[in-house]
Amino acid sequence: MLECSNHMDKEMVSGAISTPKHRFKPYPYGRRQESARVLAGINVTPLAFESLGVRSMCTLVRTKDVTVLLDAGVALGPRFRLMPHPREFRARDEARKRIEEAADKATIVTISHYHHDHHTPNFVDPVWLGSSPESFERIYKGKIILAKDSRRKINTAQRRRGWMFRQATEKFAEKFEAADEGTFEFGKTKLRFPAPVPHGEGESELGWVLPCIVEKAKEKVFFAPDVQGPVVRETVDLILREKPHLLVMGGPPTYLQGYRIGDEFFRTAIRNMEKILGTIPMVVIDHHVLRDEGWYKFLEPVRKSAEQANHKLLAASELLEKEPEPLECRRQSLYEQDKPSKEFLDWANLPEEKRSDKPPPLTT
Ligand SMILES: [Zn+2]
Repeated sequence: MLECSNHMDKEMVSGAISTPKHRFKPYPYGRRQESARVLAGINVTPLAFESLGVRSMCTLVRTKDVTVLLDAGVALGPRFRLMPHPREFRARDEARKRIEEAADKATIVTISHYHHDHHTPNFVDPVWLGSSPESFERIYKGKIILAKDSRRKINTAQRRRGWMFRQATEKFAEKFEAADEGTFEFGKTKLRFPAPVPHGEGESELGWVLPCIVEKAKEKVFFAPDVQGPVVRETVDLILREKPHLLVMGGPPTYLQGYRIGDEFFRTAIRNMEKILGTIPMVVIDHHVLRDEGWYKFLEPVRKSAEQANHKLLAASELLEKEPEPLECRRQSLYEQDKPSKEFLDWANLPEEKRSDKPPPLTT
């Protein structure tokens, strides 16, 4: 069973349903893979995110000096007691292809933490991850891997997974470095890793994540996956102190509201996001929050705070000038509106152990 960025989703309660009001222009056809030129010297391309239909925050960052692949993983998750819809599987396969192609060009691959939507393991999982030893090798072989230390500030499950990952990659990686609190320079580009911050709430069972800062000349990008809001004061302070030009951040898991997480968590997250948007000129908020159909409405106060300061709040897809298209939160309606083939439904209804060694039959 997949233990994804949140393993509680099996029985979650979905958040308030609302129709997101898209103010975005339709995405211009044929420019899908173009990277965002939001900064002059640092090129940022989202490769896999909830707004691109999958669970991930994988991002490619390029400067004249170096190409860095951040969190090279992608996953689908159980939801509404339904297997992912064929469209989700297709989105996942396309995302994995984009990640592999990006890895061909990258010198550095980073890992913020050892959940499966943030790195690619070396085993075959045709169902949730679309992973294989070949995909693993293509992503990490010959690379400098800058990863979350698996010995400190880590929970038990990730300690084990991190150790196994290191054993497997050390054989063929150019270098494997525990990057916590480290600084790495490549020409005029600096990669800086602050101390790990909590994955969600402080001391939570979900452990810690390692943020990554990319700096070149006077420009700065801050990558803060899975901070879930953030809800922790030290994370907010760190972001405000660093004051990046672009922040790419994981939003709060509103789809778990009322189930595992209380209302106060979300009030704190909103307050913190308002504060951040009042200070940072461009902020991408994506990931967990887009697993809830009500995400656009939920972020309304944050959007207001951004507008007042003349700052930008975006979903990751919008860096590609593409309308957000989260699929997991729409899984039930996808099954109704775009009925999968009988072959697919037969596969989806197999007992888990029979399903786990075969990829889903996707026609057309
Ligand atoms: Zn995650």
